[in-house]
Order: sequence, then structure tokens, then C-alpha cells
Amino acid sequence: MGITGDFPLYYGLMTQGRPISPSILPRSLPRPLLHRIRRLGAFPGLFLILVAWLVPAPAQGQSLLVLGDLYNSHPLQIRPALDQALHNLPPSDPLTIRLLQARDLRFSDPQRAVQILHALLEDTQHLQTMHPASALRIYARVFLSQIFFFQGDSTASLEQIDQASRAASGGNDSLRRGLVAIEKISLYTTLGMLEQALQTGLEGLQQFTEVQSVYLEILLAVAGVQLALNRTPEALVSLRSVQEFASLGNQPVLTALSQAALGLSHHFDRDFSRAIQAVTAARDNFLDLDLPGAAAIQDNNLAQIYEAQGTYARSITTQERAIEQLPRDLPPSLHQYMRINLANLFIRAGQYSRGYDMFEVEIPKMLTQKDFRWGFRAAEVYITARSNQGDFQQAVNMANSVLAISAVSLPGLTSDPLQGPARRNLALIYHARSRAFEAQGRYFEALDDFRRYHSLSQSSRAATTSTQLGIIREQIAATRNLTELELLQKDLEIQRLQIDRQQSIRNLLLVSLLFLGILALLITLVYLRSVRQSLEFRRMSRHDFLTGLYNRRAFVEQAVSMLEQLKAGPEETYAIILADVDHFKRFNDTYGHECGDEALKWISGTLKEALRESDVLARWGGEEFIMMLPNTGLSAAEEIAQRLRKQVNRQIFTFQSHPLEITMTFGVSQRLPGQGLDQVIAHADQALYAGKQNGRNQVNSWTA
Ligand code: GH3
Ligand code: MG
Ligand code: MG
Repeated sequence: MGITGDFPLYYGLMTQGRPISPSILPRSLPRPLLHRIRRLGAFPGLFLILVAWLVPAPAQGQSLLVLGDLYNSHPLQIRPALDQALHNLPPSDPLTIRLLQARDLRFSDPQRAVQILHALLEDTQHLQTMHPASALRIYARVFLSQIFFFQGDSTASLEQIDQASRAASGGNDSLRRGLVAIEKISLYTTLGMLEQALQTGLEGLQQFTEVQSVYLEILLAVAGVQLALNRTPEALVSLRSVQEFASLGNQPVLTALSQAALGLSHHFDRDFSRAIQAVTAARDNFLDLDLPGAAAIQDNNLAQIYEAQGTYARSITTQERAIEQLPRDLPPSLHQYMRINLANLFIRAGQYSRGYDMFEVEIPKMLTQKDFRWGFRAAEVYITARSNQGDFQQAVNMANSVLAISAVSLPGLTSDPLQGPARRNLALIYHARSRAFEAQGRYFEALDDFRRYHSLSQSSRAATTSTQLGIIREQIAATRNLTELELLQKDLEIQRLQIDRQQSIRNLLLVSLLFLGILALLITLVYLRSVRQSLEFRRMSRHDFLTGLYNRRAFVEQAVSMLEQLKAGPEETYAIILADVDHFKRFNDTYGHECGDEALKWISGTLKEALRESDVLARWGGEEFIMMLPNTGLSAAEEIAQRLRKQVNRQIFTFQSHPLEITMTFGVSQRLPGQGLDQVIAHADQALYAGKQNGRNQVNSWTA
């Protein structure tokens, strides 16, 4: 069966918009073709569809066709140009401006951002879910969630993302729902709630197939979760798909992100040369894209790889560069993680005093956040290093101050998802201090700490471990007649062996590497989303929230660009119609403001339906509408206005099953040679005013 025979079938598949799984494409496409496609540039989709006719093998033809279709319809191909355009345009809507302001401040001045967002939520709380402006509320929640996350307040962060999710599920915009889902996956992942993250991700992959970009981002987030769950082979498959697609679709940010994640997975596999290659490529791409934060995180990850290879000097310089390049306006917690990593590198490289100094500055700062995981982990590294060096007093001092802080703050976090991991890390501090006590011969204190360690960590450890321990302990006691103290020492030794093994598995570097890797994803995804949000904000800033029509500013923009077109044509004329609802106040006064709102929406729909595509319709103000009709003379415009007037009057608007009569008055004017847009509008306004004076529900034209 030749490809030509199959073409209608494939064409049918394409046009019905059947969801396409990205994973089928990279595998079934021949490499040289892929390269050729990438070099083609302008019409790759068209080219692929043509090639598909010629290629003999049906399977190849099919994938080429599907790919061609994807390429042609790819929504993000024009994104870089659009972004550029958007950045130069100040959106005018006051609510949007507040939201954007909060977005820009969320890391540099989180307090202020939280204030703005709370005020925004307050001011928009009466809006119904279907109201276009309610999207602002979803974003406000997302931003709040991000702010709380970086402040280490995971409970508050989760609460906000749940609210966002609930609000988004009320609307029917799948892009917005998809974005919230991605946010949720990233958050779960960084909080270590991996099962929930995976669950949300897999649901998302089934739900959002129709929005290519959302699908890819979810796939990327899922790859991150798979890495965190130690499912590297699966993660690699996901990542390769994302990478192929991102490069085909010319999505450089996604490409760099998938390189970064690929580097992470190679690092986990201890394939260092590939890891270095991928991470370096990601860093360079992020720099090209002017994303210094994401680039700095790649340097951080590179430093970890060098460290794992044992090239400490290189590792330290790379980490120092990472810290230097990390933009100031990123969250302080991120800067702290990076400095903790550097302190750790100093210790590994044998530069103890530099390492200790840094730890002593950074650990108390980290413990001011609610997320204790990293502060505890860092303290444990410090205490262990100090003990190993024989500095028992410093080890005990650090442990004492960390434990004092945690005694005050930890009990308040009973329902926090980070409670468990924080307690596990806290247990390690007791363990480290018990070793320090033991080394000093302070066995009773060591025993106390050891018991605390044991009871804290017991909940998170397999029950078998403690029974095993009990058996060993009894055996020792039975075979040798030891004193309680000697027994304890043996006990500690066994524990230490256990801990060392645990430590080599969950060593700080790998854990924090993974954490930072996912943070890099999160931050860059945040960037991606803010680009897309800008698109939506831009749409919102040009449209009136209530009616969805163009607002005043957008009308003027549209009119000006239409005038440009008219100038190029043979005759340059147009008409303006201004329309105002008669006695509109009565609707509000009799049935309430909601009735007025509904009436305005109804009128907008009716006017829009009755006009041509080429006419521009906008909400000019309260209950006033404006229309610009290109290439239309006065009498034609009058006829159109009459038609609109009758339409509004004839069709019955009902509010809460009250049929209500609506009438409108229309003012019409035509542009005469030498007149500017504002003059023509002023004339229509005068005509409208005269029509009101003359008894309303009529069309009136301006005459010189
Ligand atoms: P006429 O134009 O026929 O002279 O009478 P009117 O009652 O329509 O005139 P006026 O311009 O005095 O009142 C307009 C009212 O429209 C006042 C304002 O409260 C109401 N209005 C403006 N925008 C909205 C809106 O978005 N929703 C609602 N419900 N009312 C609005
Ligand atoms: Mg009115
Ligand atoms: Mg009015």
C-alpha cells in the first residue's frame, strides 16, 4: 500500500485534531531528515507534507505528515517576536497593572507583592468564575503560592495553589488550567511530595494533549519527578521527547531546560562526561536567552559534577561564578542554597576554615525560614566535619544553637508537609552531636542524644531495621558480658555504620543538586509562564472585562491601523456610530447592578452579531458603544444604525425571567476630507446628544 493511497486517512487524522503522542515521532523519523527539517526554516510543515507524498514507506510517510501538521500549527513559533512586541507595550487596565506589578516584585519585595495581591483578591472577590477578569484571581493565587514557597511556607503555598486550581477548574480555558497544573507539579516536586506530583503530571498528560506547549511542559515536569523518584530510564525517554519537540518547534527555552534535566540524569547515572556536556550546553543556551538565573543554576550543577569527579579547584571556581551570576532579585533562599553548596565544597577540598566560616554565617540565616530541611542538613554536614577534625566543642555548639531554634519553631508545623523531612534531618543532628559527645567520652549525654535520634528517626525508618538492631544488640549482650556503657558504644557503632550507608545514599550534594535542578525548572517555567501570562494580560488589557469587546484604548489602536490601510486604498472614508442606552440607570435602580451588567453583555452580543467583520466595535464608556465602519458613507451608516436600533429593540432581553425592553439612541457621522478621527467622533457625539434631546430611541446624523 503506497503512501498516496493512505493520504486521505492521514489527512483526516490531522484535521480532526486527534491528539498526537510526541513519543512516537522522534523514534519513527530518520535522523538526516530531522536535520534537514531543522535547517529549512520558513515552511517546514509544508515541506514535510510534500515529502510525505514521495517517501515510499507508509510508516515514515505517516509520521512526516503528522509532524508537518504539528509544525504548521505550532502556536509557539512566533512567540519570540510576540514577546518582543509585548515587552514594549504597557498594558493599561488598572487591575492588570497591579497584577503585573506584584509579579515583578514577588521575589525582590515579597511583602509588598503579597499586599498588592491580597488587595487585588479583595477587590475582585465579587466576580463570578465566568467573568473574564477572574483569570486575574487565578494568577494572583499562583503568584502568592510562589512567594510563600520561596519563603519556605509550604502549607500556605499549597493552600494558594489549591485555590488557583479550584478557580481554574471552574473556567473552560484549558491553557490556564494547564498552567496551574504545571505549577502544582513543580510545587509538589520541590516539596518532596513526589507521588502527588507524578499523579498530577500523569493526569495532566492525558488532559492537555490539545495544547502542545502545555503538554511539553508537563512532560518536562514529569521527567523531573521521575528523576526525583530514581526512575532514570523513564525520565530519559520523557526528556528526549521534550528535547526533540522543543528543537523542532524552535522553543529554545524548553530545549535548554531539557538539556539541563538530561545533564541531571546523567549525573545521577555517574556518566560525568555526558553530564558536563549537557549542563554546559544548557548554561550557554540560557545565557544566550538572557536568563542569567537559570544559567547560574547550571553552573551550580556543573560544580557538583566536578566535585563528584574529585576536581575540587574547578568545582569551587565554578560555584563561585554561579553565586556571582545569580541575579539579586531572585529569592534569598536560592542564594543561600548556593552558598551552602560552596561551603560544602570548601570542606570537601580540605579548606576547612573557609568552609566553617561560610556555614556559620549561612546556617542561622537558613533557619529563619520555615523550611528547615536545608538548614538542618547543612548543620549536620558542619557538625560531622567538625567532629571528624576533632573540634568537638564547635560541633556541640552548633548543634545546641540549631536545636534551640528548632525547639521553638518545629512544634508549630504539625500539619506541614515538610514536617517529616525536617524531622528526619533533625534526627541526624542529634546523631552527629551524640558522636561528638561520644568522642569526648561524655557517654551519658551521647546516650540521651542517641535515644532522641532513634525516636525521631524511627517513624521514617523501616520497622525491620529496628528489630534487626534489637537482635544484634541482644546477641552482643549474650555473647559478651559488657557493661551498659560498652553496650551503648557498640550500639552507636552499629548505628554509625547504618548512618554512613544512609548518608552515602542521601548525601547532601545529590539531594541539594536535585532540589536545585528542580528549582531551575521551576524558575524557568515561571519565566515561560510569565511570557504566556503577558500574552493573556495583553489580551485582557485590550478588552473590556465585562463585555469582552475592545476597550477605548484598543479601539483607538484599531482605528489608527485601519486608517493606515484606508490611506493605501482608492478612497479614504469611514463612518462613526456612537450608541448610548436609554435610561440605563433604571435597570440598575430597579433590578440592581447585576441586571445592568447583564444588559450590557446582552447589548454587546446583539451589536456584534449585527455588524460586519470589517467593522470595529468597542465599549466606549459605561453604557456607550462606538463603531467604526470603513469605506462607508453617511446614508449607508444611517441604515446600519437603524438596523442595530431595531435589532436591540425587537429582541427581548430577560433578566431573572423579567422581559425588559431596551432602547438605544445612535449618533452617526461621516469623515469628510481634512477631518481627524477625534473630530469625527465628536460629531457623532453631538448627533447622539441631539437624539437624546429629541426623545431617544432614534438614529440621528451629524450635519455641518
Ligand atoms: P440616558 O442615557 O437615556 O440619558 O439615561 P441613562 O440613565 O442611560 O444615563 P446616564 O449616563 O446618566 O447613566 C448611565 C448609568 O450607567 C450610570 C452608571 O451607573 C451606569 N453604568 C455605567 N457603567 C455600568 C456598568 O458597567 N454596569 C452597570 N450595571 N451600570 C453601569
Ligand atoms: Mg444612557
Ligand atoms: Mg451615557
